[in-house]
Order: sequence, then C-alpha cells, then structure tokens
Amino acid sequence: MQLYNIKDPSEKVNFAQAVRRGLGRGQGLFFPSEIRPLEDIDALLRDDLVTRSSKILRNFLGDELPDLDGVLKRAFTFPAPLAKVTDDVYALELFHGPTLAFKDFGGRFMAQALQAVSGGEHITILTATSGDTGAAVAHAFYGVEGIDVVILYPKGKISNLQEKLFCTLGGNIRTVAVNGTFDDCQALVKRAFDDEELKKAVGLNSANSINISRLLAQICYYFEAYAQLPEDRRSKVVFSVPSGNFGDVTAGLLAKACGLPVSRFVIATNANDTVPRYLASGRWEPRDTIPTLSNAMDVSRPNNWPRVEELFRVMNWNLSDLTSGAVDDAGTEEAMRKLKKLGYISEPHGSIAWSVLSDTLAPDETGIFLCTAAPAKFKESVDRILDMDLPLPPALADRADMKVLSDNFDPSWELLRKYLLRQD
Ligand SMILES: *Cc1c(COP(=O)(O)O)cnc(C)c1O
Repeated sequence: MQLYNIKDPSEKVNFAQAVRRGLGRGQGLFFPSEIRPLEDIDALLRDDLVTRSSKILRNFLGDELPDLDGVLKRAFTFPAPLAKVTDDVYALELFHGPTLAFKDFGGRFMAQALQAVSGGEHITILTATSGDTGAAVAHAFYGVEGIDVVILYPKGKISNLQEKLFCTLGGNIRTVAVNGTFDDCQALVKRAFDDEELKKAVGLNSANSINISRLLAQICYYFEAYAQLPEDRRSKVVFSVPSGNFGDVTAGLLAKACGLPVSRFVIATNANDTVPRYLASGRWEPRDTIPTLSNAMDVSRPNNWPRVEELFRVMNWNLSDLTSGAVDDAGTEEAMRKLKKLGYISEPHGSIAWSVLSDTLAPDETGIFLCTAAPAKFKESVDRILDMDLPLPPALADRADMKVLSDNFDPSWELLRKYLLRQD
C-alpha cells in the first residue's frame, strides 16, 4: 500500500511507515495513492465481520501486514449490531467494545497493526488525556506485547469512573495522575516528543487519532451495517454520521469509494458547526469551540477534513452532494426524547445523527445513523433528559471497585523523563 502526504505529495510512504509516523512532514495527513474497487460486493456482504474485513483491508494493503487475519481477530472481538428503530431507520450500534464507544474499533486495530509493523522494536505510547481518549488507548494496547503505554491525566480533574476505567489495568499500562491541569499534561507530552534522544531510547509514539490505520478499520463497519439490512432495504441507503474530527465519516466515504453502494452521507455536528457552515457558504470560518452535551464532538477545527476534500477531489465527487446539519443542545435533548418515544434510547452523539437524518430522509430512502457511544457512557445526561436511571454496564461496573494503580507526581519534565526511561 502506498500513501502520500496531502500537504506534500512528494512524500510517499508504505503502510508500516504511515502507521509508525502518524503524520507526515509539515503535519500533513497520509492518504492512499490508489483506491481500488472491491470485486463481488454481494459475496462480500454474505461473509462474517472478520472474514469480510480481511478482504476489504487486503484490497488496500496489498502484501503488507501478512498476519491481517490475526490482527483483525484480536481487534474486532465485539459485534456492531444494526437495530431497527422504525421501518426506514436503523441504528448502527458501535459501542459494544471495552470502552463503550466506536473508537474501540480504530484503537484496537491500530494497536495490533502497530505491533505487527514494529518488527520487534520496543515502542512506548505516550499520551495526555482529559478523560475518554485515555481509556480507549489503554484498553486498545492492554496486553499488546512489546508496547508500553504511559498516560498522563490531571489529578482530581477527571471523573471517578473515568479514572477507574483506565487506571486499574496495570500490566503494560502505566498511568500518572499529574498534580496540575490538562494543559500541564499536554505540555509535558509535547516536550517529550521534542527530545530526540529520549524518543529514540524508548521508541516514543503518539498513537495519534489521525493514524491511517484507524480509518481503515472503520471502513469495515459500514459494510457490516449494510450487510445486516434486509435485502428490500438496500436500494437507497443513507448513512448519518455524528462528526467531530471527521474521521468516522472519512471512513464511510472510503467505503463508498471502494464500492459500497451508499446513496448519500449526512454529516451531523453539534453547535460546533464549522463544516455545515462551510458547505453552505464556501467559507472556512472556525469559531471558538463551545462545550456541549455531545462533548466528543466539541471540535471547531476538524483535523480529518483535508482527507474528506482530498477524497472528493480524486473521486471527482461534488461536496454539494453531502447533506449536513448542526443541532444545538436544546435540539439534542428534543431528539433524545423523540427517539425514546420511538422505543430507542440513545445518548447525545447518536441522537444528533438521528435528528439530521430524520429531517432529510426521503420516502424511498433507508437511513442508518451511527450510535458512537453507549447511552450509559453519558449516564448523567441520559438520566436527566429522559428521566431514567440507567444501569451501569458491566464494562464499567466491574471496574468500579478496583484499585486505582496510578503513579502521582508534579508536572516536572525531569520526573517524567526519568519515568519514561524507567530510572525513577
Ligand atoms: C470521537 C467521537 C465522535 C466523533 O468522531 P469523529 O471521527 O471525530 O468525527 C462522535 N461520537 C463519539 C461518542 C466520539 O467519541
């Protein structure tokens, strides 16, 4: 598989290099040089998730990653069921993984792929978290041989349950409660990546959210959704994607580019609506990010957007074929209540996708909205808005009584450096 840097197309890398580097020169994103159409989509749709995903990704990877089947078996250990909400609307539930969010698909595949391409070289993943991304990274890399993980978070500034979810694993996952703010944690991480000697010594890697391996993994569940649709519902399929950094929708568009018969895509954002405004006006005018109920989409400068534009360019598609809409918090609450009346409990992110979808769905179309997190992950909002008391899912309940194993120190570069070098 060859990829190029969108910012500097003369920089070309293979899959292994793209996975290991994350970003190209000048912070440019890597993009596949060739998107080959898949053969015999009908047969593909009859396969199970892992078998089908292996064929889809082999079409991209060529002869790289020989153990692709093993990688997928270890990464995709949970299902992505399609739930019927009404006759023409379905919910794709992507939250049955260990951290109850769709990022488990991309994160777990990236962890396995990174190990497979590292050639036995030791790797240390270093990241700072204000809560959720830490859990996804920790669980994705937990038990992956040859890879150590260090996660920094601001002591006392994440919820108890969030802390339990990723600070109780042990093994190759080390967590540090820093006596400071999230910005202090991020500054320490940045400093580490500027230290060439340290980087080499411990094989520092960021497991960045823009890593191409994540997108490849996410392509697979669009096929999985389609495969679960009744045959008489497959003629005009619309996917609605709740979007923050636009990685998820990029993967959906890539699925279409290699042959999945999708009629159109709906991009749904919260009040951080840079892209819907851009699609309407042609002007890219990010504003300050505002906090919302759907906080995983509180992004005003979506970092995967250049990949969307690049894909439209190489496929000769027109951006005006994208449907988009923004839903504020009041609209989000209303959508959650309407969905409950239809018999489906959803959390803020998925509900936003449903809201924009149901506003635009034509009578001859079938809509699928992506449910990116389990309702219980946003228990506070869901309980309040829907007047419920959701039970804690086992993934969280099981950890609630476990001991937090975090180390603790001041935001000092000296201390972190020693810790990374295991000289503390
Ligand atoms: C990350 C996230 C999103 C946004 O996905 P992008 O790929 O960044 O657009 C939506 N919902 C939830 C629950 C998320 O965690």
